[in-house]
Amino acid sequence: MRHAVVLGAGIGGLCAAGALSAVCERVTLVERDALPAGPAARRGVPQGRHAHVLVTAGIEAVDRLFPGIYASMVAAGAPVVRDFSAFRLAPGGGAPLRLCGPPPEPFAGLVSRPCLEAHIRARVRKLSNVVIRDGVAATGLTAEGGRVTGVRLSQPLAADLVVDATGRGSRAPNWLVELGYPAPREERVPIDLMYVTRQFRQPHLPALVVGVSARPGRARGMVLFAQEEGRCVLTVSGYGAHHPPREPERLLDALASLAPPDVVSALRAAEPLGDPVVAHFPANVRHRYDRLRRFPPGFLVLGDAICSTNPAYALGMSVAARQAEMLRAVVAAGDQDLARRYFRAAAKPAGAAWAAATGGDLALPEVPGRRPLSVRLAGAYSRRLLGAAERDPVVAHQFLRVAALQDPSSRLVRPSMIARTLRPAWRGDRP
Ligand SMILES: Cc1cc2nc3c(=O)[nH]c(=O)nc-3n(C[C@H](O)[C@H](O)[C@H](O)COP(=O)(O)OP(=O)(O)OC[C@H]3O[C@@H](n4cnc5c(N)ncnc54)[C@H](O)[C@@H]3O)c2cc1C
Repeated sequence: MRHAVVLGAGIGGLCAAGALSAVCERVTLVERDALPAGPAARRGVPQGRHAHVLVTAGIEAVDRLFPGIYASMVAAGAPVVRDFSAFRLAPGGGAPLRLCGPPPEPFAGLVSRPCLEAHIRARVRKLSNVVIRDGVAATGLTAEGGRVTGVRLSQPLAADLVVDATGRGSRAPNWLVELGYPAPREERVPIDLMYVTRQFRQPHLPALVVGVSARPGRARGMVLFAQEEGRCVLTVSGYGAHHPPREPERLLDALASLAPPDVVSALRAAEPLGDPVVAHFPANVRHRYDRLRRFPPGFLVLGDAICSTNPAYALGMSVAARQAEMLRAVVAAGDQDLARRYFRAAAKPAGAAWAAATGGDLALPEVPGRRPLSVRLAGAYSRRLLGAAERDPVVAHQFLRVAALQDPSSRLVRPSMIARTLRPAWRGDRP
């Protein structure tokens, strides 16, 4: 492949540019924002001011794409979970998972989103065959004889391959229709989720990761992540009628109804860095590019532009990084049937994130929507499993590996796992 153009320099676009640089003669990365020199929030990524973490599969993928990047983030001050006592995650909304032994390394990317982007951007800038063109928006595709031949910027830019990584607002479905191709079917699960986030300086947190998920009857959750430079980020989230308050004091009061008391005290004593910020996430959305029968050669889509899931599951960046690795592999294998091979591969991590997020969301009666029998059964089983994970480290570790995209969800329904989950001792003893 001679020249690839990647649209969007978010996590997906940066990873895709890094991946393609290994298999293309040259790569141009096009970004609408003027990119900052270091870690800074920017307009095109409004979610960057909210709690972000890279789960294990994501940090592993980013580290394979940019070898040594995890170590460089740690050297620059990224907190490291060295002991599970620093990791208090309650995905069932009750007691934390019971985990033991040392966590694998890398275990999680605990840096702010602007810092993560800045680290990856710095690595992409060092690639001699990648050019970054920032402050330029892509407005469409150019095509000839049914093949995409480039992208419309202020001037058309020719390419052998165009990859759309412009995020949740991607215009790719419209661009396809403009070229005479069908748009992918859109799947949507509305959730009306509100995020209220505030950053603090607090070098003395009782844990590096604290998370308490929403549960039936209490459609609110929280996460607190330690980050670089003694900072931490708190997000309280809530569905529908349970949107969290935005006022600083009321936000901490809402936190007190969710988080352990030592965490609440640490935040009450912490120095706030700016006011709370708000994000509204209306729906999980997935575009079924993997189901299209007709698709123009020379064009692919990646990251949130394919599938954007409830941020509380913290999977979007990891899915994008995994898809970038897949992109590298399918392009290295040749141009023949590229779109079908790529979208089939990319659907795997996207589908795993989709199943986790929509399954979890629809398990909450507060989220409206149709629940076929399969969804109701899966919801009931996963409630039992999370109850077991609060007491049984084997179940907890397996759940965590699935939640971090390291293992397929089928691991949770192996006979040994079903037996542990349905063991009578766990029955009815959830808090
Ligand atoms: C509140 C919130 C919290 C989240 N927390 C987590 C988390 O903890 N962990 C996690 O893994 N994921 C999280 N996510 C999801 C994560 O942010 C996304 O999945 C991830 O950013 C997707 O990357 P992307 O590259 O596909 O898109 P984005 O990161 O959104 O990047 C798209 C880029 O394209 C650029 N662009 C847009 N249009 C154009 C154009 N026409 N021309 C050129 N450039 C363009 C934008 O400026 C932007 O830079 C969260 C999301 C939200 C909303």
